[in-house]
Amino acid sequence: MRSAFDLQLVNGPTGDPALFADVIGAGRAVLIDLGNLSSLSARKLLRVSDVLLSHAHLDHFADFERLLRVVLGRERVIRLTGPKGTLARVAARLASYEWNLAESFREAVTFEVLEVHEDGTRRRARLALKERFAPQEVEEFVATSDVVRAEPRLVIRAAVLDHGVPCLAFALEEPVHVQVFRNALEAMGLGTGPWLRRAKELLLEGAPDDTPLTAQWRDGTRILERTVFLGALREQALRLIPGQRVVYVTDCAWTKRNVEKILELAQDADTLVIEAAFSHADRAQARARRHLTAVEAGTIARLAGVRRMIPFHFSPRYEGRFEVLEAEARAAFEGTDGSLALPEPL
Ligand SMILES: [Zn+2]
Repeated sequence: MRSAFDLQLVNGPTGDPALFADVIGAGRAVLIDLGNLSSLSARKLLRVSDVLLSHAHLDHFADFERLLRVVLGRERVIRLTGPKGTLARVAARLASYEWNLAESFREAVTFEVLEVHEDGTRRRARLALKERFAPQEVEEFVATSDVVRAEPRLVIRAAVLDHGVPCLAFALEEPVHVQVFRNALEAMGLGTGPWLRRAKELLLEGAPDDTPLTAQWRDGTRILERTVFLGALREQALRLIPGQRVVYVTDCAWTKRNVEKILELAQDADTLVIEAAFSHADRAQARARRHLTAVEAGTIARLAGVRRMIPFHFSPRYEGRFEVLEAEARAAFEGTDGSLALPEPL
């Protein structure tokens, strides 16, 4: 199946959390969590338009500066979304450096920080190198949905989970996708070309069927052109299909409220990247540290009906036997291991 996102778990399932999600065809990427980023090239870091921070424990936030150094002298806005307290933390990290040379940068980065609070409150501010990263335009408002970013090609949602501290889970969605049937186009006597992009845009905008389009394509050395109506394309050669959804869940306790929120975010998702920090045998420790066990992760993936589960954030205590976590999560996801009962909150 066609993918909307190219996913890279930067440090695999065992290292610091960081998920690089390239938005295919958009020339940009979303980076979820800022654990060790040393294996991400500058070229990849320069594609990051959105940073999503689950929470500010060290292993999720430590490499903020690595991103900062790469984007510092670039004229661009990076949106950084995190839980309550993120603005103060980002401002504090930036304030710990001298910026007396800020004015000498011809191009300079700006961070647009957005905080997502449990009660629906959102806080937003701009921190620009040219203003020595002093928070500007701080505003507070109340959100009416879980959407933190809405664009025609990308929607980002967030849910606030409990990890002892607020911790965000995220969904990346391609809202709808236009599928092109090339054979049908051919049968209509049309060739492919840049005009198709306009046709897709019109379809996504819900333009009326009698909207005319100039289809232009190259046939050898000749340029051919025809007028076609959107309705005919819709009936014969283009189809709207649901887009893909990737959900990222980490660092949260196995509580009824958390599980309900995750299921709402992850229902029928294409991919669920979910922490499986502990073996179920160590569930007492998992509970004390407010993490999920591998069985809990697999159970959530099964209940959500996701197509693919990627367990990660394995605790280093399982060094040399990480496959135990993978196997536990897999068995719970596939429902093949009946020996482990569903945990209580459900
Ligand atoms: Zn944590």
